[in-house]
Order: sequence, then structure tokens, then C-alpha cells
Amino acid sequence: MAGPGDCVFCRIVAGEISATVVRETDTTLAFRDVSPQAPVHVLVIPKEHLVDVGAVAAADSELLRQIMEECVAVAYEDGVADSGYRIAFNTGDEGGQVVPHCHAHVLGGRKLNGELG
Ligand code: C5P
Repeated sequence: MAGPGDCVFCRIVAGEISATVVRETDTTLAFRDVSPQAPVHVLVIPKEHLVDVGAVAAADSELLRQIMEECVAVAYEDGVADSGYRIAFNTGDEGGQVVPHCHAHVLGGRKLNGELG
């Protein structure tokens, strides 16, 4: 499993890999998914390397609240708060998680259907 040193999202936080950042706080970063699945597709991550949402919840419930608050803020800023959107944490192998650094997908701007639409 990737540690902070070789984790792609830690490298985005460090500025070593470029990303289109839309929001940043002391503890979180929100950036556009490089392979968008919907007109709005933003990832919200903790800056700290925590592998998944369960690890965030176990380590720091305030950080989990901050991530959720940032997801909602992204939805408002990208104009999908009224039309509707989805927040999804893929978690672990069967949950379809590819990058082992907790991230919330914020998806919207089209009618989403089953799975991740
Ligand atoms: O939830 P999962 O781990 O499958 O999602 C990882 C997401 O990270 C993918 O949607 C992928 O497009 C995105 N990604 C990115 N920028 C990178 C590497 C991956 O936006 N440099």
C-alpha cells in the first residue's frame, strides 16, 4: 500500500503533481478529477495521508466533518447544489477504490443513475 512518500494525492498536496485546485483549507484540498465522469467531478481529500474514510473517521471526526463541509461548498460553487449531486467515498478493493488516500467524489451536472452513474 502506498505511503505518503509515493502517494499520488500526497504528491498533489505537496505540489509535485499538478492538479486544478478549486478549494483549499488548512486540512483539506479540493481539485478537479483528471478523468471526469460528470460535468462536475471534484475530489475532496484530507491533506494528511489517511487511506480511506474509515481511517479518517477513526483518526479525527472533526476532519471528516470538514471534508463533508468542503464537498457541500464545492456543490454550491459549481452550481449543482439545487439540481442535485452525489458525494461518494469509494472504499477498499470491492468499493472500487484505486487511490489509497481518502477522497470524496463530488459528482453532478447531469442525471446520475446506478452505481457511480
Ligand atoms: O475512488 P477511486 O480511487 O477509484 O478514484 C480515484 C480517482 O482519482 C479517479 O477518478 C481518478 O481519475 C482520480 N485521479 C486524479 N488525479 C490523479 C490521479 C487520479 O484526479 N493524478
